[in-house]
Amino acid sequence: MQSELTEEHRRIRDTLATFAEREIRPFAAQWEKDEAFPRAVMEKLGALGFLGVSFPERFGGAGADTLSQVLVVEGLARCDASVALSCAAHVSLSAGHIGAFASEQQQQRYLPAMLAGKKLGAWCLTEPGSGSDASAMRTRATLSGGDYLINGSKMFITNGNIADVYVVTAVENPEQGKGGISAFIVERGTKGLSNGRKIEKLGLRASDTGEVIFDNVTVPAANRIGPSGEGYRQTLKVLEAGRVGVAGFSLGIARAGFETAVAYARERKQFGRPIAEFQAIQWMIADMATRIDAAWLLILRAARLKDAGKPYGREAAIAKLFASETAMWATERAVQIHGGYGYISEFHVERYMRDAKLCEIGEGTSEMQRMIIAKSLLRDGYLPA
Ligand SMILES: Cc1cc2nc3c(=O)[nH]c(=O)nc-3n(C[C@H](O)[C@H](O)[C@H](O)COP(=O)(O)OP(=O)(O)OC[C@H]3O[C@@H](n4cnc5c(N)ncnc54)[C@H](O)[C@@H]3O)c2cc1C
Repeated sequence: MQSELTEEHRRIRDTLATFAEREIRPFAAQWEKDEAFPRAVMEKLGALGFLGVSFPERFGGAGADTLSQVLVVEGLARCDASVALSCAAHVSLSAGHIGAFASEQQQQRYLPAMLAGKKLGAWCLTEPGSGSDASAMRTRATLSGGDYLINGSKMFITNGNIADVYVVTAVENPEQGKGGISAFIVERGTKGLSNGRKIEKLGLRASDTGEVIFDNVTVPAANRIGPSGEGYRQTLKVLEAGRVGVAGFSLGIARAGFETAVAYARERKQFGRPIAEFQAIQWMIADMATRIDAAWLLILRAARLKDAGKPYGREAAIAKLFASETAMWATERAVQIHGGYGYISEFHVERYMRDAKLCEIGEGTSEMQRMIIAKSLLRDGYLPA
């Protein structure tokens, strides 16, 4: 890993690690217990420039590459996956959608505050009845005079209860299928926007997840992102880029499990020796390291293809699939290495395992990744990038 990183990458990774070890890791367990998202941390991350790493400098970003952004989300997930998830939804989905497809005027209006951590973003695609098949969404946007009227509801939205800026997809022209979906920016405080019941989760409990309800929400036509009917195409592109980030997020959780397990195996003695001396434990550690390494290389490949402007959809799906299944597998092994102590919250690895499950579900389930990969292989053949 070391040799793949430039000086700038290392600087970002190390500064982030210093910050996260001091300001995030010590509080992660309590935030999860309280189910409280640490909003102040987001502002600090913004002030330190970590939210805008890969955005243009004119919006307050650093203009760095995709790998730099991956290092940020990975480093955060290593210390607290809840903070990392909220950050990823804010940066790569909400601000990412605006950064890729909104007008200069819209970008000037929203991005500087979002990248500074002063305004929090949410990205609203999933609905109670549509997840993997996002095109089956039912939220409607009806043009009336110079305004759009938005009606419907969105489900499982990260930062959904606390965001300031919502990027929302809705059906504008139902007869045009996927080509009838448009994307809009809706600000918190807009009349008719509200939240549903509290959602209790398996893991990632300090990350806010909400239902967002749109009841005759009126936004000016100028709040549409890009041309009418482009919303679904934009969504696929945002998800494609987001998958590289989710792979980094998964890798961070896997590494947290790995590092904790190795430290524990060195300390814990049974039969008069540290358990790290038993071959059964050594093999688990070796397998964890091998999968983590492989996930890293897959992420590196996808990030490089993206930055080179080459097609990277298949490689992003492969990286996301492998990294997310590695996160789940490695954290389960980490619990196993801890024995009974792995099953209690004091040793954190049970939290890592609960957090890891989301990696196989969010931003396209593992089944969806396999579909994307197989479709691409069967269409284009296997051409190693
Ligand atoms: C904590 C959390 C945060 C989230 N944050 C956001 C967010 O910020 N914004 C947002 O828009 N969404 C968000 N989501 C939603 C997430 O992206 C969806 O849950 C995910 O896409 C899966 O959709 P679904 O839950 O409707 O499952 P479904 O699509 O109903 O899938 C159920 C099962 O069926 C399988 N399946 C479905 N179709 C097929 C098929 N054709 N072939 C084989 N298997 C299939 C799936 O793989 C899965 O195993 C979040 C979810 C969670 C849990």
